Amino acid sequence: MEREGAVERFRRAIRIRTDWPESPREEGPPAEVLEAAEAPLKAFQDFLAAAYPRFLRSTEHWVLNPYALVYRWPGSAALPGETPGPEAVLILAHYDVVPVEADKWSVDPFGAEIKGGFMYGRGTQDMKGNLIALMEAVEELVIRGFSPRRDIWFAFGGDEERSGLMGAQTTATWFAGRGQRFSWILDEGSPVTINQIRGINIPLALFSVEEKGFLSLELAVDQKPGHSSRPPRVQAVALLARALLRISRQPFPSRLSPTVAALFSHLAALRSRERGGTPHPWAIALRTAVLSVLGPLVAPVLAFSFRKDPQILALLRTTVAMTQLEGSLADNVMPSRVRAVINMRLLAPWSVDDAINYISWIIGDDRVKIRGLGFASSPVPAHPEHEHARGPGWEEMAKAVAAVFPGAVPIPFIMTAATDSRHYQKLAGGIFRFSPMRLSPADMSSVHGHDERISLENFFLAINFYTTLFEML
Ligand SMILES: [Zn+2]
Repeated sequence: MEREGAVERFRRAIRIRTDWPESPREEGPPAEVLEAAEAPLKAFQDFLAAAYPRFLRSTEHWVLNPYALVYRWPGSAALPGETPGPEAVLILAHYDVVPVEADKWSVDPFGAEIKGGFMYGRGTQDMKGNLIALMEAVEELVIRGFSPRRDIWFAFGGDEERSGLMGAQTTATWFAGRGQRFSWILDEGSPVTINQIRGINIPLALFSVEEKGFLSLELAVDQKPGHSSRPPRVQAVALLARALLRISRQPFPSRLSPTVAALFSHLAALRSRERGGTPHPWAIALRTAVLSVLGPLVAPVLAFSFRKDPQILALLRTTVAMTQLEGSLADNVMPSRVRAVINMRLLAPWSVDDAINYISWIIGDDRVKIRGLGFASSPVPAHPEHEHARGPGWEEMAKAVAAVFPGAVPIPFIMTAATDSRHYQKLAGGIFRFSPMRLSPADMSSVHGHDERISLENFFLAINFYTTLFEML
């Protein structure tokens, strides 16, 4: 691998500003803003074509719109143009990034500055680092004359950070129209981590095989506007505040999903291994089964013992985050409407509709109007075999981890954030949400925050991972 060239292309990718101008989530920007915002997305598509010419020549590719780019790297089993085999694999990535508060950064967020072995910039972790790493891997493999046995498809989205409706959803519909299915899918997700879970010192490759759902709700109370010198007896703000208080006092019930049951049994096995024991694979399976049966009893106990650990709690229940609050514009004006927004991450089996009904039942006051905001998605369950650390793709993924992250143990995990892969769930046997980088919880905190950065070491690890993985496909 030609390392300097790879780093240089990574820097160029960061410098193309694919962040999105701020606008209300629902309305969408006006036409001229839209055109200006789409220009860098198109520039990024052109950049990929120019930077990876060999890959481009050995693939079929489609630009569906500024937000959707698709490549097919034909497997040696089928010639270009032929009906693709049933074992095709799909690799997902996105090239849009979230906006920045530039004044809170210590470097230029789009400068791709390298300091102390790290590259700084919006998108270095989420997720141009992955995207460029996998392009470097395929370009190099093509140069070496390698072609995969089965079809590998790549679908890159330009609006993942805004629900993926133009990118991922368009592409998924396009695939469905062609009758294209995949054995499994790999998208961005959880990393190889150390000290992520209390008491476990072995590095864990967290394969997020399940994904929580996403729902934003607006809670609003209307009242007659007027002068604040004559306030009504019952005020809208007080009603809204009471509704929010009720929600915070009554969290969703905790539950042990099959993936989380499997996670805890794997962790227990790892713990006994760290103490010198050698757990049998069937012991893990047995513990998973027992935990699943006892789930309704175990989950509340776990929720209580981890009550101060938001990361573990998020695995055990549907969470509600209160994110926006709005009242009057002036200190002496009664607001005609007050509103709050809550953002929920739904744990199966809570569907979008069930969650709305539950919230409305908790609030129990029909003066508080509840309305869904933007795109919502129900949870995406795991492939049943993935819960047992096997099934489509598991072996290849685990082998690539073993080669690139020696000593790291792959375990089933649950993605608490939303990814583009949710749009493709009907097209695949199983989905992995995994980022092949070694990250501590502190490393991950810069995602969507200030001074986002990735170590060059991690960037090279990711290139190695994708190379090793594609060589097996
Ligand atoms: Zn992302």
